[in-house]
Amino acid sequence: MPTAETVTQTLSAHFEDVKQQIREDCGLTNISYDTWIFPLSFLSYQDGVVSILIPTDNLLQQSYLEKHYIDFFRVALSEQAGINVDVSFVLPKDTPSLKEQGHETDPFPEEEEAAVTSSLSDFSGLNVKYRFDNFVVGGNNNFAYSAALAVAESPGDAYNPLFLYGGPGLGKTHLMHSIGHFIGHNKPGSKILYVTSEHFTNEVIEAIRSGQKDSKIMSRFREKYRTVDVLLLDDVQFIIGKESTQEEFFHTFNALKEAGKQIVLSSDKPPKQMETLEERFRSRFESGLIADIQAPDYETKMAIMKKLGEQYPVEIDDGAFAYIANNIKSNIRQLEGAFNKIIAFSRINNVPRITEEIAAEALKDFLYPDADRIVTYQRVIDTICEHFSISKDELLSSKRSAEVVLPRQLAMYISRKYVPNNSYKEIGKELGGKDHTTVISGEKRVIDLLKSDSEVERTLDILIKKINPSL
Ligand code: ADP
Ligand code: MG
Repeated sequence: MPTAETVTQTLSAHFEDVKQQIREDCGLTNISYDTWIFPLSFLSYQDGVVSILIPTDNLLQQSYLEKHYIDFFRVALSEQAGINVDVSFVLPKDTPSLKEQGHETDPFPEEEEAAVTSSLSDFSGLNVKYRFDNFVVGGNNNFAYSAALAVAESPGDAYNPLFLYGGPGLGKTHLMHSIGHFIGHNKPGSKILYVTSEHFTNEVIEAIRSGQKDSKIMSRFREKYRTVDVLLLDDVQFIIGKESTQEEFFHTFNALKEAGKQIVLSSDKPPKQMETLEERFRSRFESGLIADIQAPDYETKMAIMKKLGEQYPVEIDDGAFAYIANNIKSNIRQLEGAFNKIIAFSRINNVPRITEEIAAEALKDFLYPDADRIVTYQRVIDTICEHFSISKDELLSSKRSAEVVLPRQLAMYISRKYVPNNSYKEIGKELGGKDHTTVISGEKRVIDLLKSDSEVERTLDILIKKINPSL
């Protein structure tokens, strides 16, 4: 039985892993994760109970976590600790020592005023983890980085709004927090507010609901948002189309812009591709600067991991980094998840040096869960679409563009080789109603390519491992 001290050490060291596990177990979207789980931190372990700290005195968040996540935490923490533990979600107000250290309270309760401090506190809406100095700049994000820096240097002046867009896990949130920290440092006293769109939406709904009883509540809400110097609103796509929320946001936007206050928005797509976006929003979003973040190239992925590696005393071979970089296509959040796994593995197994083989062993379940499942067409199709970032419709279409032809041929080749009891005819049918001769020539093309193109060979290898690592 581990001592309380060991449990405390283990859980505090692995609390991020526990959070990631809950993200996976619950299949959380980024936005739900960022709202509910991300802000939590390990507080203590005592008498069989793990206390988890919610950064602000937000009763709503506390009851939501108790209702929806407590069992997941119980299981994940017990596994991590090696004994059965109970869980309690605590607020700063219930932990006197934290209160004295001046932790922020919920930015929106009755008696609170609107200001959100810009100190480098973990609890002002800004996360200390996300700063310019630990953001790795590469060809994929160079433009967005420079734009963010320009805005941070002259908020309200350079580009307003700054509209950052890009796929999940590519660094939008990181840049937004970086802007916040930078301004907080250079212009102490600035009111900086970072919110996710989900949070903003919840606040609007709450303000409308309680505003029916007390008209001051709505004005307090407006006051809160319209008096900031910098508003960082993450994942704005979730607001669009939500009637009253987008209306509130519209007025907030106008008020801030008019007053010369900086607005930074992020989204998964540029305004012109946001289908249900009304013209009045589009023109406003496009009135400042739009900057994209693309998927990282190999070198950027390597640089990000090397930077992470600097924090740990363990030696990590380039081969181990390369293994991760090759297996994780673009999402940097996943890249970090994989990196954390190899670090945890090396700790648990006392490995002083992480080689490529060790990385592969450590990441077996992470990269390739459910190793023993049989290969189905569905699994082949899903894996290929995910790997190449194409839609199922595209894969199954008859389009002949380069992005889809090779993936489709690989789907044919893999199905032929690994789906039990297949036939060319059946494969053709499963892949969008193709003729069996198309399947035969697709398979042949891959066989030919494999003789001459090592890149194709490597891709195939990765795909097969993703489909079933025991193959
Ligand atoms: P997004 O908001 O675009 O979904 P995030 O900003 O949350 O992505 O990034 C996901 C993770 O990857 C974060 O932990 C972030 O710190 C990290 N990350 C993303 N881009 C970089 C980068 N260029 N350098 C270092 N870390 C990065
Ligand atoms: Mg984000």
